[in-house]
Amino acid sequence: MSEADRISSLVYDRYRSLPRRGKPETGLQWTLLAAVLKISEGADGQSVQREVVALGTGSKCIGRSAMSPKGDVLNDSHAEVIARRSCVRYLTEQLSGALRGDHNSIFCPSDQRGKWKLRPGISFIFFSSHTPCGDASIIPMIDSQVQPCPPVKAEQDNRVTNQDSETGGERWSEETGGVRKRLKVSPDDAQTGDGSQAEHETAVERNAESVESDSVQQPDIHRTGAKCVPGGPADPLGPGSGYHSVGLLRVKPGRGEPTLSLSCSDKLARWTIMGFQGALLSHFLQGGLYFRAVVVGKCPYSQQAIERALNRCAHVSSLPEGFSVHPPEIMQSSLEFIHSRTNTRPSLSDAQGRVVPCGAAVSWCAVSRRPLDVTANGYKQGVTKKALGTPQARSLISKVELFHSFLELLATVDDSQLPESLRGKELSSYWDYKQAAEEYQQAWDALRSQVFPLWPRSPRELLLFCRDPPSAPNRSSLASSGQQQS
Ligand SMILES: [Zn+2]
Repeated sequence: MSEADRISSLVYDRYRSLPRRGKPETGLQWTLLAAVLKISEGADGQSVQREVVALGTGSKCIGRSAMSPKGDVLNDSHAEVIARRSCVRYLTEQLSGALRGDHNSIFCPSDQRGKWKLRPGISFIFFSSHTPCGDASIIPMIDSQVQPCPPVKAEQDNRVTNQDSETGGERWSEETGGVRKRLKVSPDDAQTGDGSQAEHETAVERNAESVESDSVQQPDIHRTGAKCVPGGPADPLGPGSGYHSVGLLRVKPGRGEPTLSLSCSDKLARWTIMGFQGALLSHFLQGGLYFRAVVVGKCPYSQQAIERALNRCAHVSSLPEGFSVHPPEIMQSSLEFIHSRTNTRPSLSDAQGRVVPCGAAVSWCAVSRRPLDVTANGYKQGVTKKALGTPQARSLISKVELFHSFLELLATVDDSQLPESLRGKELSSYWDYKQAAEEYQQAWDALRSQVFPLWPRSPRELLLFCRDPPSAPNRSSLASSGQQQS
């Protein structure tokens, strides 16, 4: 078994072991899966242990108008992002263990006061059941062994891309059979950037028989539904391989409105410099935490495209101590995710044969309390409308909940043991704590100015939330008052 297959099997096993809540309905829905694995190598260099420590599913993203200034909504519920945020919960608990002197923690003291580092032999691998949306999904047909498809006419493309539904799956179901058919031969992936690649693969398989008779064709590409960020070059939208420009930052499509969330290709590229621990935890860490490898499940895939997309930051210089360029090894598994789009065949009972993306996102991580967290539309799944905005409706991986966990961690640290970046500072909001992570911010400034000048800035007003008051008598009234405290 290849290393990539070993990794994907472990993730699929972990996924299967989770309860049904939030998973797709068989034969009706599909989803995307991503995970973080901890790799522990023995001192002898021989024994290797692989463990899934965080996992995420999901394919949705909310638009600007649904974002919350309280940090209590998940803006981006693509599997990769859910998996990373879940991993932050895991890292926070591991840090907390290290602070209590737990020798089983993945962290051990570094030589800088108040800072921690990974124990020798520990590293991380990122898994995704599919090619990340955005730049990595712009795949020349030839690269995925797909032989010529009929070229796409530009006006058909416009018709497709001007439609605004959140995912390819939904769009398919809204389209008439005729359009759907055209789309199947056009490698469009317009709205998901993720799932509809899988749709295309099916189309490709069907086309395989006619390959030989179709020898003179224009080269074509798989597409992404993520659109170029405003203010920079746009896609030419020409036929075939002239449709997209490559190497550009892209934002995810939302339901009828643009989102402020960058494509997963862009986020993964960013993590090769910034690490995946986020700004808050970087206060406590000697440096960024990086994925040494990225494993992709069986799906349309191009080694060249994904390397291009993820290694866009390879030449960044002038990074502060603790941060450096970490291009991951990228490999593909031959094993397919059970709930991928191609594995989801319409059930006979469903007369229309519609297959749609699952609306829920599952977050799981290896923590002692409440490891599972299922959301829909950015809030805990199943909360009533009335409860929206209350702490009960929040996901455990929302900004505000991760912030609270960070503050709880901070509260256990003796002043003399605080890292330099947190000593003697008057910080209150989420924004304050993120900005105070100086090295992290310096790294981000370097990356932004050298590679990603068009990366949209998060609106500051959405990051100014603070901690909940220590003993709010009535938490739901707090939410409706806009949480105006300290
Ligand atoms: Zn994505």
